[in-house]
Amino acid sequence: MEKTVPEPLLVATDLYKIFPLAATWFARRQLLQAVTGVSLSLLAGETLGLVGESGCGKSTLGRLLLALMPPTRGEVRFAGQNLWKLPKDRLRQLRQKMQIVFQDPYASLNPRLTIRHILEEPYIIHKLGTKQQRLDWCEKLLHDVGLPSEALHRYPHEFSGGQRQRLGIARALALSPELIVADEPVSALDVSVQAQILNLFNSLKEKMGLTYLFISHDLSVISHMSDRIAVMYLGRLMEVAPRQRFCHRGLHPYTEALLEAAPDADPGRRLPAPRLKGDPPSPLQVPSGCPFHPRCPEAEPRCRDTFPEFRQVGPHHWLSCHLR
Ligand code: SF4
Repeated sequence: MEKTVPEPLLVATDLYKIFPLAATWFARRQLLQAVTGVSLSLLAGETLGLVGESGCGKSTLGRLLLALMPPTRGEVRFAGQNLWKLPKDRLRQLRQKMQIVFQDPYASLNPRLTIRHILEEPYIIHKLGTKQQRLDWCEKLLHDVGLPSEALHRYPHEFSGGQRQRLGIARALALSPELIVADEPVSALDVSVQAQILNLFNSLKEKMGLTYLFISHDLSVISHMSDRIAVMYLGRLMEVAPRQRFCHRGLHPYTEALLEAAPDADPGRRLPAPRLKGDPPSPLQVPSGCPFHPRCPEAEPRCRDTFPEFRQVGPHHWLSCHLR
């Protein structure tokens, strides 16, 4: 029987986000290139992991995909509709289908409101249900994320970090989204709690048919969660490949460096010398040509002048390097 390929739920084409920074006494007006020429798609029901060092533009890209900020250039299509060409009320409706889970749930939960108020708010804003229906829905949300219904009467500060992240997930689920962008959702949690939250994400995906963009700087988290992995460096995608592909060599030099820098589960194994030296350059001064060339152990003279095309090198495998 022929295998059906899932439809893309979201397609981003040639996305740019450039932030102009105001001039000061010491510096002229500068342009911060947060996202540069990113094209990618998210298939319905998949988890796409987005990994890269902090400050590489991952979170900005996540917000662009959710239409939380307009791109400087390029377009985002969700369920076939160009988000920034839609009338405002239609965009508002579609946003119900796209939600975000933040790294720090405490900062995103109003400390003065009870959990019932917090969970009920999206239903009230969108004028959904009666008072009793909204209460029932809130209780179900808590049940779905593994919290008791008594939690409704408590305040955010009465919960542990892991429980607060469960509440953040419950709130993201309130309007029955199809796509969730999870932005470093476990990086503020203890390692023991991280696994529980990752398992919760996986079981909710299976139960509700969700699609995730999972953002993290931690390659082990991304490898655990993702069907495909996208690697970002200084605002550009360096590589997109199925997770299994990451177990083999022949990847982008930056991906290889990230893999070598990732902690190994076997403490007795001797690790190779790290290939990645120094910090990434500032997004205010992106190097010419391939932006990775100042740190790349394989850089050639042409890498300094020409940006390598983002091209397909295998089934569902794209990368941007002159040598691979
Ligand atoms: Fe390294 Fe050149 Fe490939 Fe960039 S294009 S990753 S600098 S080899």
